[in-house]
Amino acid sequence: MMNQYSKNSQSKKFPAITMMVFMICVSCLIKAQKSKINIPSSSKQVIHGRIIDETGNPLIAQVQVWYFDIQDVVFSFDTTETNGRTDNLITVDYSNQNGYYSVRVPSDTVLFIVTKGPEWELIYKKMIINPREFDGIEYNVAIKRLYDLGSLGWYGGDTHMHSIHSDGRQSPSELVHTMKGVGLTWGILTDHNSISGKKEWLAEGQSDFIPILGAEITTEASETSIENGYGHFNQTFITELSGITANPNIWARAIFNDHTNVQNSIDLTHAHGGLLIINHPYQNWDWAGRFKSWGEVKNFDGIEIWNCEPPHSLTTSTFDPNLMNRNTLGVQSWFAYLNSGKKLSGLAGSDTHDAYGTNAYPKGKYFWNTMAGNPRTYAFMEDFNELQLKEAIKHGRLFLTSGFGPILLVTAGGETQGNIIRVEKDEKLDVAIEVLANHPLLNSDDAVRIIYNGKIIKSFSTEGSIIFEKSIPLNIIEDGWIVVEAFGEWPMFAMTNPIFVDVPPFGDWPIEEWVEPENLKLWNKYMEQPEITIPDGPSNWENSQYIYKLFDEIN
Ligand SMILES: [Zn+2]
Ligand SMILES: [Zn+2]
Repeated sequence: MMNQYSKNSQSKKFPAITMMVFMICVSCLIKAQKSKINIPSSSKQVIHGRIIDETGNPLIAQVQVWYFDIQDVVFSFDTTETNGRTDNLITVDYSNQNGYYSVRVPSDTVLFIVTKGPEWELIYKKMIINPREFDGIEYNVAIKRLYDLGSLGWYGGDTHMHSIHSDGRQSPSELVHTMKGVGLTWGILTDHNSISGKKEWLAEGQSDFIPILGAEITTEASETSIENGYGHFNQTFITELSGITANPNIWARAIFNDHTNVQNSIDLTHAHGGLLIINHPYQNWDWAGRFKSWGEVKNFDGIEIWNCEPPHSLTTSTFDPNLMNRNTLGVQSWFAYLNSGKKLSGLAGSDTHDAYGTNAYPKGKYFWNTMAGNPRTYAFMEDFNELQLKEAIKHGRLFLTSGFGPILLVTAGGETQGNIIRVEKDEKLDVAIEVLANHPLLNSDDAVRIIYNGKIIKSFSTEGSIIFEKSIPLNIIEDGWIVVEAFGEWPMFAMTNPIFVDVPPFGDWPIEEWVEPENLKLWNKYMEQPEITIPDGPSNWENSQYIYKLFDEIN
């Protein structure tokens, strides 16, 4: 946006040099006075106000401010100089206990969002910030609760977050405030190779919040190893760190010699009562954070199939443009395990390092951020407690969704995710799907789809509605698993964990002992991972940015 005040006034010319010294100073004074209204377009104004619910109670909620025109982001590890925008996200804030918030914004055209997660009304406004808005812009908001998933036994949380106890920017208790702001009721703190946040984190346990202690075991290879690292894994539901020794050179990286160290980490986590999740397994190739122990280790409890960016190949890797979205590959690996009969959980974690966004990783031209709860994991619990949460994660009683939703409730033969339904020969299996959103679902023929053993067997159009409901009788002739996906206007996306279907002879599916796909070790080699066979997202998803098709300009 052009700024009419951005041009400097011309200095006058004076004939005598002796006068010039004096006059330059006067000129400086004139300039200094004028600079009071000479505000560059990058200067900051304030939007402030209060967020309440429909009955007038104050809410802790999240405010996001984005540039209205989303641009390509210039991002480089090697130089601090950039010629373009370094991020499309301007700032993020959370209202306090009394509902008050305040954000500083540039004099520009911005997208202003108030959200409290998928269960609440979503507010979004295009705002034109005038450079002369010296007194700030007051913007008060009342948001409605649309859905109450807790009443159905579903609770949203984040399985992967960093605090100041490693390279994150918030203290554990600050992180909890931000999580409450986006409607989360549980979380796993996963600082790199550290549990020094334990005391402060666990003190956040309340009737409406379950803090789980974890750590992201972050590896680097020893000099004698042929590998460059053995990946990142979350040890979760732990009370102590298992199987690593401190690295005096780089604090955040434990030195692993070979795959046996990975197996040791899995086994020790179990011995201490925890669960071990493989993180972002296909993060860029030439990095120690990529998992390279496929087929070399067993008995881990889940795969983080959704880290930061959405699954499906809409976003190529920021770090390695030759690679597809690492989450797409992660989903593919998960599906391959499921096809081989292994009951393995798929998790979503934000991997947030900064709940206020400005130090979160830029996400290209995509409207996406990495604050807590984006993405998030919903867990089914009969009672809201740590033990039930652990069981839910272990058994895959989960669905995964973005910070904007949608909510995705699916049953097959009355069973929820993680359970096994036995289907007699010639019996139909009723699959009931409910998609609940806070802005329109994707207007596409395959906006909602049923995936059976890795292939789409039914897809449905939502016609851009907010709610989608359908019950479908399916013909099931072989053992397998059912996952349902739902796409909303970008970046809304959700997918379930599987419901397992066992046909006669009963009791042989899923397979109880550790089983894994054939040729699994190929996945450890660069570009030799299996060809992508999982279904991609609908072709019109990426360009469906409804949130930018705006109305209601204010100010
Ligand atoms: Zn990591
Ligand atoms: Zn992480």
